[in-house]
Amino acid sequence: MNLKTLVYLDNNATTPMDPRVLEEMLPFFLEKFGNAASRTHAFGWEAEEAVEIARENIAQLIGANPKEIVFTSGATEANNLAMKGIFENYSSKGNHIITVQTEHKAVLDTCKHIEKLGGTVTYLSVNEDGLISLQELKAAITDQTILISVMYANNETGVIQPIREISAIAKKHGILFFTDATQAVGKIPVDVHSDGIDLMSFSAHKLYGPKGVGALFVKKSNPAVNIIAQIDGGGHERNMRSGTLNVPGIVGLGKACEICLDELNTEQKRLAGLRTHFEKELFILNDITINSGQVSRLPHCTNISFKTIDGDKMILEAGSQIAFSRSSACTSATMEPSHVLKAMGLTDENIHTSFRFSFGRFTTEDDVNYAIRVISKIVKEHRSERNYGHHQSV
Ligand code: PMP
Repeated sequence: MNLKTLVYLDNNATTPMDPRVLEEMLPFFLEKFGNAASRTHAFGWEAEEAVEIARENIAQLIGANPKEIVFTSGATEANNLAMKGIFENYSSKGNHIITVQTEHKAVLDTCKHIEKLGGTVTYLSVNEDGLISLQELKAAITDQTILISVMYANNETGVIQPIREISAIAKKHGILFFTDATQAVGKIPVDVHSDGIDLMSFSAHKLYGPKGVGALFVKKSNPAVNIIAQIDGGGHERNMRSGTLNVPGIVGLGKACEICLDELNTEQKRLAGLRTHFEKELFILNDITINSGQVSRLPHCTNISFKTIDGDKMILEAGSQIAFSRSSACTSATMEPSHVLKAMGLTDENIHTSFRFSFGRFTTEDDVNYAIRVISKIVKEHRSERNYGHHQSV
């Protein structure tokens, strides 16, 4: 397949690396190869300094203190560390966690594991727009609740949960609030303090950085959050995550965050403009629904249900021209209908013809226009074939 003719509209699955990020990382593979924990020579000091500069840039993007950043291998690990680490540390206080049916599998499967360890988990429902009910959240709280875990923005629909209202409820009840912000950080303004967040995960490869590196924000004061490490060893990362630091990856995450902070405002507007154009042009086709389209959502992605088309055929026909996804990349591997759209009340048939298109820093207007042409043509063909069949059989 010639990837040059394939337009990439799957930035929620992963983003291409920004060349400026790669440039910053390269010296740390070759001449600056030191171990950031080596205290006795300049190789180590140089690596440690680079890690600390990255930590500052990362902290700045989310309004945190650099000491509140714990490096991990990505958001999956950060989610595991946050949830298992809290469950283990606060077990004398309670064993109940509240989360949402539409969370990423990295949260849902971690919850399943915690249930096996004796925890109880409430999975909040969502309405047809994918939003939780604050009333249902309040009603789910018990004297055993130690953690509320609600993702910032959904990876399949882009819907943004009412984070400040949720954190206020958690605070009022003395419960910790964790958010998986993997799709939000670097895309929309996220500020851990004004958002009232106690723990937050994110990942470099969703914000034009490298794969295999991410971070967990762990609040240091008011309240000071304590988690039990899930990987034991040399006591790196203030005893929360042992293992030799991935210096090139961390440098990449730092640079990626610095660029996101610089460009966030203009990029948000540009992408929202491209998305509006995309949706408006596809709307002309009629019989399409924009899932979560009526509520606050990420500016760069859209999840669309097309009626009366063949979903499998659409992937086959459009797939050589546009890279996009049916539900989430992780869920598509299991070929199950999206649990997110299901929780929003879509029928299996509607889920089958729903697709996610996610734009990014390197998406151009030409790319979007190309995608509009490809999709419009396919949808029209499917519908005319179906109508034709219908008339034949009458
Ligand atoms: N949470 C969300 C919301 C995600 O979209 C993803 C990536 N699909 C993850 C967690 C997992 O991130 P990582 O690939 O860094 O492990």
